[in-house]
Amino acid sequence: MDYAALAALASGSKGNCHAFSDGQRTLLVDVGITLKQIRLRMEAIGWDFARVGAVALSHEHSDHIRAVPILLRHTDCVFMVTRDTLAAVNTIHGIDIPPERLILLRAGHAADWNGVRVLPFTTPHDATDPVAYRIEWAGFQAAVVTDLGHPTALVADHCAGLDLLALEANHDVQMLREGSYPPALKARILSRVGHLSNESMGELLAGVHGPRLRTVVLAHLSEQNNDPALARLAAAEVLRHSTTALHLARQDEPLLVAAPAP
Ligand SMILES: [Zn+2]
Ligand SMILES: [Zn+2]
Repeated sequence: MDYAALAALASGSKGNCHAFSDGQRTLLVDVGITLKQIRLRMEAIGWDFARVGAVALSHEHSDHIRAVPILLRHTDCVFMVTRDTLAAVNTIHGIDIPPERLILLRAGHAADWNGVRVLPFTTPHDATDPVAYRIEWAGFQAAVVTDLGHPTALVADHCAGLDLLALEANHDVQMLREGSYPPALKARILSRVGHLSNESMGELLAGVHGPRLRTVVLAHLSEQNNDPALARLAAAEVLRHSTTALHLARQDEPLLVAAPAP
Protein backbone atom coordinates (compact mmCIF):
# COMPACT_ATOMS: atom_id res chain seq x y z
CA MET A 1 0.00 0.00 0.00
CA ASP A 2 1.44 3.34 -0.91
CA TYR A 3 -1.17 5.43 0.76
CA ALA A 4 -1.58 6.66 4.29
CA ALA A 5 -4.46 8.42 5.96
CA LEU A 6 -4.26 11.24 8.45
CA ALA A 7 -6.46 11.55 11.48
CA ALA A 8 -6.42 14.74 13.50
CA LEU A 9 -7.36 13.08 16.79
CA ALA A 10 -7.25 16.33 18.75
CA SER A 11 -6.12 19.82 17.86
CA GLY A 12 -6.12 23.05 19.87
CA SER A 13 -4.58 24.64 22.94
CA LYS A 14 -5.92 21.88 25.22
CA GLY A 15 -4.11 19.08 23.44
CA ASN A 16 -2.78 17.97 20.08
CA CYS A 17 -2.46 14.55 18.50
CA HIS A 18 -2.26 13.63 14.83
CA ALA A 19 -2.06 10.08 13.53
CA PHE A 20 -0.87 8.66 10.22
CA SER A 21 -1.70 5.09 9.29
CA ASP A 22 -1.75 2.73 6.34
CA GLY A 23 -3.74 0.17 8.30
CA GLN A 24 -0.58 -1.70 9.32
CA ARG A 25 1.77 0.92 10.70
CA THR A 26 0.56 3.87 12.72
CA LEU A 27 2.65 6.89 13.64
CA LEU A 28 1.48 9.57 16.03
CA VAL A 29 2.66 13.16 15.80
CA ASP A 30 2.39 14.58 19.32
CA VAL A 31 0.39 13.06 22.15
CA GLY A 32 -1.06 16.01 24.04
CA ILE A 33 -4.26 14.24 25.17
CA THR A 34 -4.76 11.31 27.52
CA LEU A 35 -4.06 7.74 26.45
CA LYS A 36 -7.74 6.99 27.06
CA GLN A 37 -8.74 9.72 24.62
CA ILE A 38 -6.21 8.57 22.03
CA ARG A 39 -7.68 5.06 22.22
CA LEU A 40 -11.30 6.23 22.15
CA ARG A 41 -10.78 8.56 19.23
CA MET A 42 -8.88 5.96 17.21
CA GLU A 43 -11.68 3.49 17.91
CA ALA A 44 -14.23 6.06 16.77
CA ILE A 45 -12.65 6.21 13.32
CA GLY A 46 -12.08 2.45 13.14
CA TRP A 47 -8.35 2.47 13.80
CA ASP A 48 -6.58 -0.06 16.00
CA PHE A 49 -4.51 1.51 18.77
CA ALA A 50 -2.35 -1.63 18.90
CA ARG A 51 -0.85 -0.61 15.55
CA VAL A 52 0.76 2.51 17.03
CA GLY A 53 4.48 1.92 16.78
CA ALA A 54 6.01 5.37 17.03
CA VAL A 55 5.37 8.84 18.37
CA ALA A 56 7.10 11.90 16.92
CA LEU A 57 7.23 14.87 19.29
CA SER A 58 7.28 18.44 17.99
CA HIS A 59 8.29 20.24 21.21
CA GLU A 60 8.00 20.00 24.97
CA HIS A 61 4.84 22.05 25.60
CA SER A 62 2.28 20.11 27.65
CA ASP A 63 -0.41 20.26 24.98
CA HIS A 64 1.88 18.06 22.83
CA ILE A 65 3.40 15.55 25.25
CA ARG A 66 0.78 14.82 27.92
CA ALA A 67 0.51 11.06 27.25
CA VAL A 68 4.25 10.36 27.00
CA PRO A 69 4.63 8.90 30.54
CA ILE A 70 1.67 6.56 30.23
CA LEU A 71 2.67 5.48 26.72
CA LEU A 72 6.12 4.64 28.11
CA ARG A 73 4.52 2.43 30.75
CA HIS A 74 1.75 0.79 28.76
CA THR A 75 3.10 0.40 25.22
CA ASP A 76 6.41 -0.41 23.58
CA CYS A 77 6.24 2.36 20.97
CA VAL A 78 9.37 4.35 20.15
CA PHE A 79 9.67 8.11 20.52
CA MET A 80 11.16 10.25 17.79
CA VAL A 81 12.47 13.49 19.24
CA THR A 82 15.39 15.87 18.90
CA ARG A 83 18.12 15.77 21.52
CA ASP A 84 17.29 19.22 22.92
CA THR A 85 13.56 18.55 23.12
CA LEU A 86 14.32 15.25 24.84
CA ALA A 87 16.40 17.15 27.41
CA ALA A 88 13.61 19.68 27.90
CA VAL A 89 11.01 16.93 28.33
CA ASN A 90 13.26 15.52 31.02
CA THR A 91 14.21 18.71 32.88
CA ILE A 92 10.86 20.51 32.63
CA HIS A 93 8.49 17.57 32.98
CA GLY A 94 10.67 14.97 34.73
CA ILE A 95 9.97 12.42 32.00
CA ASP A 96 12.78 10.00 31.27
CA ILE A 97 12.60 8.24 27.91
CA PRO A 98 15.11 5.36 27.96
CA PRO A 99 17.56 5.09 25.04
CA GLU A 100 16.06 1.83 23.77
CA ARG A 101 12.74 3.62 23.23
CA LEU A 102 14.28 6.50 21.28
CA ILE A 103 14.98 7.48 17.71
CA LEU A 104 16.94 10.70 18.10
CA LEU A 105 16.24 13.33 15.47
CA ARG A 106 18.01 16.39 14.20
CA ALA A 107 16.08 19.22 12.61
CA GLY A 108 16.68 19.22 8.87
CA HIS A 109 17.68 15.55 8.76
CA ALA A 110 15.25 12.83 7.73
CA ALA A 111 14.94 9.69 9.81
CA ASP A 112 13.39 6.36 8.91
CA TRP A 113 10.76 4.56 10.93
CA ASN A 114 9.63 1.29 9.42
CA GLY A 115 9.97 2.59 5.89
CA VAL A 116 8.30 5.90 6.70
CA ARG A 117 10.47 8.97 6.11
CA VAL A 118 10.14 11.42 8.96
CA LEU A 119 11.70 14.83 8.39
CA PRO A 120 11.68 17.30 11.30
CA PHE A 121 12.25 20.95 10.43
CA THR A 122 12.67 23.98 12.62
CA THR A 123 9.73 26.22 13.45
CA PRO A 124 9.84 29.66 15.10
CA HIS A 125 8.20 28.95 18.47
CA ASP A 126 9.06 29.65 22.09
CA ALA A 127 10.21 26.14 22.98
CA THR A 128 13.70 24.62 23.24
CA ASP A 129 14.03 23.03 19.80
CA PRO A 130 10.61 23.13 18.14
CA VAL A 131 10.04 21.26 14.89
CA ALA A 132 7.24 20.47 12.50
CA TYR A 133 7.16 17.25 10.49
CA ARG A 134 7.13 16.29 6.88
CA ILE A 135 6.09 12.66 6.55
CA GLU A 136 6.71 10.64 3.41
CA TRP A 137 4.82 7.38 3.29
CA ALA A 138 5.74 5.63 0.06
CA GLY A 139 4.63 8.25 -2.46
CA PHE A 140 2.36 10.12 -0.06
CA GLN A 141 3.74 13.46 1.14
CA ALA A 142 2.23 15.16 4.16
CA ALA A 143 3.20 17.69 6.80
CA VAL A 144 1.93 18.67 10.23
CA VAL A 145 2.88 22.29 10.88
CA THR A 146 1.63 23.86 14.10
CA ASP A 147 3.04 26.06 16.85
CA LEU A 148 4.88 28.67 14.87
CA GLY A 149 4.90 32.42 15.31
CA HIS A 150 5.32 33.40 11.70
CA PRO A 151 5.82 31.80 8.29
CA THR A 152 9.51 31.33 7.48
CA ALA A 153 11.16 30.49 4.17
CA LEU A 154 12.47 27.29 5.73
CA VAL A 155 8.97 26.18 6.72
CA ALA A 156 7.64 27.06 3.26
CA ASP A 157 10.45 25.07 1.62
CA HIS A 158 9.45 22.00 3.60
CA CYS A 159 5.81 22.40 2.65
CA ALA A 160 6.42 22.35 -1.11
CA GLY A 161 4.99 19.51 -3.22
CA LEU A 162 2.74 18.08 -0.52
CA ASP A 163 -0.39 15.97 -0.98
CA LEU A 164 -1.70 16.91 2.44
CA LEU A 165 -0.94 19.80 4.78
CA ALA A 166 -2.16 20.18 8.36
CA LEU A 167 -1.44 23.81 9.16
CA GLU A 168 -1.94 25.98 12.21
CA ALA A 169 -4.63 28.66 12.09
CA ASN A 170 -4.46 29.68 15.72
CA HIS A 171 -6.13 33.04 16.05
CA ASP A 172 -7.77 35.99 14.47
CA VAL A 173 -5.54 38.92 15.40
CA GLN A 174 -8.43 41.25 16.18
CA MET A 175 -10.27 38.69 18.32
CA LEU A 176 -7.07 38.02 20.24
CA ARG A 177 -6.31 41.72 20.75
CA GLU A 178 -9.84 42.47 21.93
CA GLY A 179 -10.22 39.24 23.91
CA SER A 180 -9.87 38.44 27.59
CA TYR A 181 -6.34 36.99 27.65
CA PRO A 182 -3.86 38.82 29.92
CA PRO A 183 -1.62 41.26 28.01
CA ALA A 184 1.54 39.18 28.49
CA LEU A 185 -0.14 36.09 27.04
CA LYS A 186 -1.53 38.09 24.11
CA ALA A 187 1.97 39.41 23.43
CA ARG A 188 3.41 35.90 23.57
CA ILE A 189 0.87 34.49 21.12
CA LEU A 190 1.28 37.46 18.75
CA SER A 191 5.09 37.35 18.85
CA ARG A 192 7.29 35.90 16.11
CA VAL A 193 7.75 32.79 18.22
CA GLY A 194 4.10 32.44 19.24
CA HIS A 195 1.26 31.05 17.17
CA LEU A 196 0.17 31.46 13.56
CA SER A 197 -2.72 33.84 12.88
CA ASN A 198 -5.33 33.16 10.21
CA GLU A 199 -3.74 35.87 8.14
CA SER A 200 -0.23 34.42 8.36
CA MET A 201 -1.62 30.95 7.69
CA GLY A 202 -3.14 32.30 4.48
CA GLU A 203 0.15 33.86 3.51
CA LEU A 204 2.04 30.61 4.08
CA LEU A 205 -0.61 28.55 2.30
CA ALA A 206 -0.54 30.87 -0.72
CA GLY A 207 3.20 30.35 -0.99
CA VAL A 208 3.11 26.56 -0.87
CA HIS A 209 -0.16 25.74 -2.62
CA GLY A 210 0.49 23.69 -5.74
CA PRO A 211 -1.41 21.39 -8.09
CA ARG A 212 -0.53 18.34 -6.02
CA LEU A 213 -2.05 19.60 -2.78
CA ARG A 214 -5.30 17.69 -2.33
CA THR A 215 -6.09 18.30 1.30
CA VAL A 216 -5.59 21.12 3.79
CA VAL A 217 -6.47 20.68 7.45
CA LEU A 218 -6.52 23.78 9.61
CA ALA A 219 -5.20 22.96 13.05
CA HIS A 220 -4.53 24.27 16.58
CA LEU A 221 -7.43 26.74 16.39
CA SER A 222 -7.88 28.73 19.57
CA GLU A 223 -11.35 28.29 21.04
CA GLN A 224 -11.17 31.76 22.60
CA ASN A 225 -9.39 33.76 19.94
CA ASN A 226 -10.61 32.31 16.69
CA ASP A 227 -13.83 31.64 14.90
CA PRO A 228 -13.73 28.53 12.70
CA ALA A 229 -15.61 30.48 10.02
CA LEU A 230 -12.86 33.13 9.89
CA ALA A 231 -10.10 30.52 9.70
CA ARG A 232 -11.96 28.71 6.95
CA LEU A 233 -12.50 31.94 5.04
CA ALA A 234 -8.79 32.85 5.18
CA ALA A 235 -7.84 29.47 3.69
CA ALA A 236 -10.74 29.33 1.22
CA GLU A 237 -9.63 32.67 -0.18
CA VAL A 238 -6.25 31.13 -1.09
CA LEU A 239 -7.75 27.87 -2.37
CA ARG A 240 -10.64 29.44 -4.30
CA HIS A 241 -9.50 28.46 -7.79
CA SER A 242 -8.46 24.94 -6.85
CA THR A 243 -10.11 21.65 -5.97
CA THR A 244 -8.10 21.25 -2.76
CA ALA A 245 -10.35 20.01 0.05
CA LEU A 246 -10.41 22.09 3.21
CA HIS A 247 -11.08 20.68 6.70
CA LEU A 248 -10.91 21.98 10.24
CA ALA A 249 -9.37 19.84 12.97
CA ARG A 250 -11.27 19.84 16.26
CA GLN A 251 -10.33 19.91 19.91
CA ASP A 252 -12.98 17.48 21.07
CA GLU A 253 -13.45 14.98 18.30
CA PRO A 254 -11.35 13.20 15.70
CA LEU A 255 -11.27 14.15 12.06
CA LEU A 256 -10.34 11.52 9.50
CA VAL A 257 -9.25 13.32 6.37
CA ALA A 258 -8.32 10.65 3.90
CA ALA A 259 -9.30 7.02 3.83
CA PRO A 260 -6.68 4.44 2.92
CA ALA A 261 -6.86 3.16 -0.62
CA PRO A 262 -8.67 -0.20 -0.87
ZN1 LIG B 1 3.75 25.12 21.76
ZN1 LIG C 1 0.59 23.76 21.00
